[in-house]
Amino acid sequence: MSYAPESIAYHQGEYKPLKDCNVNIMTHALQYGTMVFGGLRGYYDAESDNVYLFRPEDHMRRLHRSAHIMQMVPPLSESKMVEVALEITRRNNYRCNVYYRPFVYKDALQLSPRLHDVTDDFAMYSLVLDDYLDTSRGMRTVVSSWRRIDENIIPTRAKVSGGYANSALAKSEAVQHGFDEAIFLDSRGFVSEGSAENIFMVRDGVLITPPVTASVLEGITRRSILELARLEGMTVLERDIARTELYIADELFFCGTGAQVAWIEEVDRRIIADGQIGPITRRLRDRFRQAVIGKDPETRNWVRPVFESRVNA
Ligand code: PMP
Repeated sequence: MSYAPESIAYHQGEYKPLKDCNVNIMTHALQYGTMVFGGLRGYYDAESDNVYLFRPEDHMRRLHRSAHIMQMVPPLSESKMVEVALEITRRNNYRCNVYYRPFVYKDALQLSPRLHDVTDDFAMYSLVLDDYLDTSRGMRTVVSSWRRIDENIIPTRAKVSGGYANSALAKSEAVQHGFDEAIFLDSRGFVSEGSAENIFMVRDGVLITPPVTASVLEGITRRSILELARLEGMTVLERDIARTELYIADELFFCGTGAQVAWIEEVDRRIIADGQIGPITRRLRDRFRQAVIGKDPETRNWVRPVFESRVNA
């Protein structure tokens, strides 16, 4: 993942090199974290020489909903935002895995920390991105000493940039103590999510994840995993998870656009089950990997191929 100054991004209504997409230091979003964002992936499939956007409509719908919560008015519709992601892919002529960062931000040069009467703009950039977490091994995790922000502080349902200070505190604490990732508890003390991933647990063959009222982001990968599990005939439950249930779980994994499906080997220095990836996690991970490149027949409508044809382009 690196900054590519010449890559084409979208800002202030036009496509231009990323190095020319800049804002004034007085910008409201920079001062107060009043920006809402999305993060979606495009997967490159060499066989078809195409890039597949994963559930772009769902990502843009969530972005619009985040904006609505924060009283922002995006200048582009959901479908126009999908068009921008497609156009960015074409203009950069990508033949690799891509991560897109669309966002709506309060762009006014305005001093007061408020939501009303402050103008908004939309922008999107992209990066070449393979794995965000190393999914070839198990994650070593720790329950964070930082609590997850909750609904009446900064709602995690809205993907607000200011709320990510909470994620950054937890992530750095975990990594600086030698772990890979943090697990947040919510303000009630129940398991919430990782710093940038939702969490799933398997107990006695049942797939369990915290409900959307446990201060989590309503993850699109989370929803996809629940849907794939139902297609696989698994029993799924959205219910609160207590901290020590993690220690005695049969399987645990994170999921998210960045993380994809990343299995958890250890929590608070307790090895989970036999310390290997579990069979349900493996099944869901393998099916998810097929789904993201449009090769899972039952979920083909989740992906949007970018190029109509690209013979020797
Ligand atoms: N929780 C948080 C806090 C996140 O930042 C993310 C990443 N967007 C997720 C969960 C996973 O959500 P999604 O599957 O939509 O990427």
